[in-house]
Amino acid sequence: RSARADLASFENPDYYNTLHRAQKEVGYRPTSIVNGLVNSLRNGVSFLGVAGLLAAFHWAALVAVVLLCIPEVWVRIRFAERLFRHQLDNVQDERKAWFYHRLLTTLDFAKELRLFRLSPLFMDRFVAIRRRLFRLRQSILLARFWSEGVTKTLALAAVYGAYVWVALRTMRGEVSVGDLVMYFQAFQQGQQYFQDCVRNLAKLYEDNLFLSGLYDILDLERRIADPKEPAPFPSPLDQGVALRSVSFTYPDSLDPALNDVSMKLKPGTLTALVGENGSGKSTLVKLLCRLYDPQFGSVSVDSVPLGQLDLDELRSKISVVFQDYSRYPATAAENIWFGDVDAPWDMERLHKAAALSGASSVLEKLPKGYDSMLTKWLAKGSELSVGEWQKVALARALFSRAPILVLDEPTSAMDSRAEFDLYECLRDLAPDRVI
Ligand code: ADP
Ligand code: MG
Repeated sequence: RSARADLASFENPDYYNTLHRAQKEVGYRPTSIVNGLVNSLRNGVSFLGVAGLLAAFHWAALVAVVLLCIPEVWVRIRFAERLFRHQLDNVQDERKAWFYHRLLTTLDFAKELRLFRLSPLFMDRFVAIRRRLFRLRQSILLARFWSEGVTKTLALAAVYGAYVWVALRTMRGEVSVGDLVMYFQAFQQGQQYFQDCVRNLAKLYEDNLFLSGLYDILDLERRIADPKEPAPFPSPLDQGVALRSVSFTYPDSLDPALNDVSMKLKPGTLTALVGENGSGKSTLVKLLCRLYDPQFGSVSVDSVPLGQLDLDELRSKISVVFQDYSRYPATAAENIWFGDVDAPWDMERLHKAAALSGASSVLEKLPKGYDSMLTKWLAKGSELSVGEWQKVALARALFSRAPILVLDEPTSAMDSRAEFDLYECLRDLAPDRVI
């Protein structure tokens, strides 16, 4: 579900809170539900067998066994709800602690943590949160422990009361000594079966409660979705891409990132967009790929609004180097091939894309060439410089056969020679593309 969620979901803390709850519980709650169902069924059936015997002794015996379970179930359900509320209230802090943990244990922050000597600070914060969460949980569990102590004592007292009752009736000669042994066991087992049955039902309630995060994630609605009857993507492009009075404000933002923007991108042309930081260039790219829909205006390809196109098809027609491109922990060749995974593995085309982007000279020098892993995290591999990574990202975008190519500050980390080379050959890249 997460893989298909809107990009906007990932900018919303509620989404992460729900996901965190779902991920925490989903590992074992479903098995626990199956176990709970089987156990309550088994104990229920066993109880029915003994119930007949108890009723034969006295109807009140049966009623007593049933009634005595009520306090325990009540305690279980009440505390399940308290624990659940505790989880809901503190999921943000749990995530914060988890983040400090990630901060302290991964490479991403390792340099600055050492230089600015931040580790003790974050460690203290981590410990403070975990300690507070532990105390809260401990107090709930302790209260449950005592409450369960009371209900269990009650139940035990009832069983002993029943023993006395059976013994009295035996002394009065109403039941035989053989029956006495039988009823002793019937009481003890009847109560055990019924209690286990109801306990499992209460556990089912608890499991269901804690799985709500998973259900919420499964129910996640997508705003950016496929149209019911998608129009075919215009091919070959005739008029190109057009933006008409597009205005867009990010979710929960006050100021629009784009305000009444119109432009035309014709096939076979190269368009450069220049603007200050924060002027909305990257936002425009996201609208082009329909990662967001604009609130006003329209983006269309050959007069077909993006909303009428099949999402996957639209995205297969646009190749992008995002400003914050991704670095995949995979081999160098795969990092380029990811630009067009529908294509068969074609080393020659791959080399061509790498040559155009300037990545080939970097990758050929690696110990295993294109087969080198570009990560040290998953396997013994190589690490590239930021600029070299950008060349790989560019090669990935060029490997794609999409007719529209978008480069968002593709040379920001490259040296001036690489930058010059790229812009020199940009025009030759693909004469029929919109770039
Ligand atoms: P540029 O690429 O031209 O430097 P952007 O398109 O990245 O600018 O950003 C345009 C404006 O939108 C900025 O003012 C920025 O604060 C805001 N912005 C960018 N990304 C987001 C986001 N994910 N959520 C909210 N606001 C954003
Ligand atoms: Mg930008």
